[in-house]
Amino acid sequence: MDLGLSGRSALVTAASRGLGRACAEALIGEGANVFISSRDEASIASTAKQIKAAGWLAADVSKPGEPEALVEAATTRLRGLDVLVVNAGGPPPGTFQTTPIEQWEVAFELTLMSAVRLIRAGLPHLKRSDQGRIVCITSISVRQPIPNIALSNAMRAAVTGLAKTLSRELAPDRITVNCLAPDSILTDRIRQIAAASGTDPDERVKEMAAHAPMGRLGDPAEFGAACAFLCSKQAGYISGQTIGVDGGALLGVH
Ligand code: NAD
Repeated sequence: MDLGLSGRSALVTAASRGLGRACAEALIGEGANVFISSRDEASIASTAKQIKAAGWLAADVSKPGEPEALVEAATTRLRGLDVLVVNAGGPPPGTFQTTPIEQWEVAFELTLMSAVRLIRAGLPHLKRSDQGRIVCITSISVRQPIPNIALSNAMRAAVTGLAKTLSRELAPDRITVNCLAPDSILTDRIRQIAAASGTDPDERVKEMAAHAPMGRLGDPAEFGAACAFLCSKQAGYISGQTIGVDGGALLGVH
């Protein structure tokens, strides 16, 4: 199937590895010109070379001013923008009672305000596209809060509300706005969680896979493919949705 992404301009944030990188690779595989960014200059430069990105910039999306400068650099390089994939690292773990109050401000900037700033800056460009697409990477936690990640549970729900609001507001501009909600996709984040468990990380990953409904963890490429589809011309009538990429892990019906 030709997804109508050839020659399209895309910006993917937090893309040096993991799910962001997988989205960038899938879009590049469909012929899109993709600009990528993440915090660390050496990692993003190296990933850009490996995946043949159209451009890159080191940017911390949690710092006011950096998302705006990133969009400016990307749209100048790409001469416009059709696709914006909003991603950032997850906020630190902890229960509500163990989370210091200052961490709420940090998570607010990292998870919610990064999306607000990126989308605000990207909108004038996306409005000029005839295939405008916004995809926010959230988590299964927006439907099934996960114990011990209070900040993520709260802030990703806010991103979901933002995306739903925007889907109606931007419908007249033919811009679709959707969220992808991953669970247990084998990236460095999952490896780090395994390493922090106190048991052998490889054994912990095997254990996580054994407990997953499909008896395995997700492949980042499967997540990237879902992202490419949401950005396709065929997905033009899908908006305001949260699509789970979780191997059937969600227990609820919605
Ligand atoms: P990862 O740790 O493998 O990669 C995170 C990427 O984000 C890296 O490129 C890192 O450099 C970048 N990054 C982190 N903070 C940033 C910042 N402030 N500014 C710019 N770049 C930043 O993680 P992942 O597994 O790819 O997850 C991506 C997102 O999806 C995270 O928010 C994670 O919490 C969420 N998530 C992942 C899963 C999963 O199964 N992997 C499940 C639920 C939620």
